[in-house]
Amino acid sequence: MKIGRGVYGQHEDLLVVTEDGILRGTSLARIADGEFPIKTPQDLVCAGERELDAVNHLVAQAIALGVDWDPEPDAWLPPVTRPDKVICVGLNYRPHAAESKMQIPEYPVLFNKFGTSLVGHQATVRPPYDAHQMDYEAELVIVMGRRCHQVAETEALDYVFGYCNGNDLSARDLQFRTSQWLSGKAPDGFGPVGPYLVTRDAIPDPSRLDIVGYRNGQEVQRSNTAAMIFSCRYLVSYLSQWMTLVPGDLIFTGTPEGVLLGYPEPRPWLRAGDRLTVAIEGLGELETHIGSADD
Ligand code: ZN
Repeated sequence: MKIGRGVYGQHEDLLVVTEDGILRGTSLARIADGEFPIKTPQDLVCAGERELDAVNHLVAQAIALGVDWDPEPDAWLPPVTRPDKVICVGLNYRPHAAESKMQIPEYPVLFNKFGTSLVGHQATVRPPYDAHQMDYEAELVIVMGRRCHQVAETEALDYVFGYCNGNDLSARDLQFRTSQWLSGKAPDGFGPVGPYLVTRDAIPDPSRLDIVGYRNGQEVQRSNTAAMIFSCRYLVSYLSQWMTLVPGDLIFTGTPEGVLLGYPEPRPWLRAGDRLTVAIEGLGELETHIGSADD
């Protein structure tokens, strides 16, 4: 199932995106005679599989009743609201480590973003005034579904709720000012995710997905998640050794080669007006617009 969040007028609503159309949470609540406690995808992520079955059932009922589809929202929001953690993995594809002139990591390179970094599909991201080297990074994002602590690699994916597209926007000048990358990775809006999350039943193997990035419609990144150095199951298990992962936590799993950092000088950094797209197999397309710092 594809689950998102959007704005209609003044109201935020849960979205279920099907092959045939979109159903809003309010439409599902009508079918359920008001007995529908799920207001946001986060509610659903926290509620677990039983509620997910209930929503599936309601959607089937809606389709059987011939319900009218809802229009696209006025604006898409990140599918996860206020995650406890947004963990990012750096240099997780060998050719990307090479183009960044960095060593292949022996352990996952970790950094993070914050809730304020997250924006939804079709958002316009305005770089900070002192960021002049803006870059894209198409990434698969894991959405955690169950609390897990020191989980084995073999069971790690059972704790995942689903997956979505992500763009690990990076201001390279801020990123490399110091040895810690945070200021170049965690500004407001630097974590576009969406357009929706896809539950794990629809993505049986996250280590076999084509991942493609576009800039203004032109392909700039293409790989497959099979090329990751540290797989999704490894990363969930590894992180859970010392941080308890909780429902709604996001893990950005690293980007393949093709980022602007890897270009020869003078690098064609992102400019206001650029349109970025991340398209991972089965997860739809996440579009992001680059605005100008003084808008
Ligand atoms: Zn990244």
